[in-house]
Amino acid sequence: MTIFYKFEGKLYANITNKCPCACTFCIRKNSDSIAGNDSLWLEHEPTYEEIIEAFEKFDKTGITDLVFCGYGEPMARADVLVDVARYVKQHTNMKIRINTNGLVDFMNPAFDPYSMRYVIDSISISLNAPDPESYNEVTRPSYGLPAFNAMLNFAKLAKSIVNEVMFTVVDVITPLQIEECEELAKGLQIPLRVRKRVTDNETYT
Ligand code: SF4
Repeated sequence: MTIFYKFEGKLYANITNKCPCACTFCIRKNSDSIAGNDSLWLEHEPTYEEIIEAFEKFDKTGITDLVFCGYGEPMARADVLVDVARYVKQHTNMKIRINTNGLVDFMNPAFDPYSMRYVIDSISISLNAPDPESYNEVTRPSYGLPAFNAMLNFAKLAKSIVNEVMFTVVDVITPLQIEECEELAKGLQIPLRVRKRVTDNETYT
């Protein structure tokens, strides 16, 4: 079971395969792994203890960054994620980033975002589109149209909690929509990164 894997010099944590979305560009649709690592489909959701054990066993020589990403939406298990991140912060100097769809408010309404303070350094949020309708078409969240505003609200809140927040869009939307995303991100003072649609040699979210 692959809980941790290395990609481009960073350590990636794969703590869940759950996700309430079905993004049109999601790599899970056509590959079981990333960059030649073992399958990222988990036999079961690893417990906190199993994740820590896997972390301790992993050869982390030279690794300075940990990214919660994997084959699913990491904040579907936000409480476990923050507990693991806290352990990592207490035992290493690693910088910790979460790649998320930003829908934790729907996935885990009881989650306290302030628990991320001093634990998470950076959050990358999938903006995906400039408005609720096009977001729905690209991201296909099970929560429907309200998901877009929930994602934006999470981004605004996250900015006051962690040092670095960024948006991403994938170039599956039109150039005009990308421009609109740039305007939206600028208005929120959040940097936007435009990504090319990924292949199975890259990572996602
Ligand atoms: S890209 Fe991320 S948010 Fe979208 S379906 Fe895949 S795992 Fe879920």
